[in-house]
Amino acid sequence: MKTMTCKQLGGPCDQTHSGDDANVIIKAQDTHLREAVKNGDSSHEDAFKAMKGRWKNPFAGMGWYNQVKKDFADLPENN
Ligand SMILES: [Zn+2]
Repeated sequence: MKTMTCKQLGGPCDQTHSGDDANVIIKAQDTHLREAVKNGDSSHEDAFKAMKGRWKNPFAGMGWYNQVKKDFADLPENN
């Protein structure tokens, strides 16, 4: 199990996401961004737009995705 923060994923806050796989954490961050924006949190709007842009343009989003996977791989296990 590893933990990454919203900030490490390009967002503005210190909310943490834990998982055994980078994909789990990426998914949790997507949900977190969507919820934050839905709740009127304007500080998450830029990160939310960037996330939507990645879905629309998977090729350009790949760089971000690979970086997150690399960051995740470099993290220590925290159980
Ligand atoms: Zn956040």
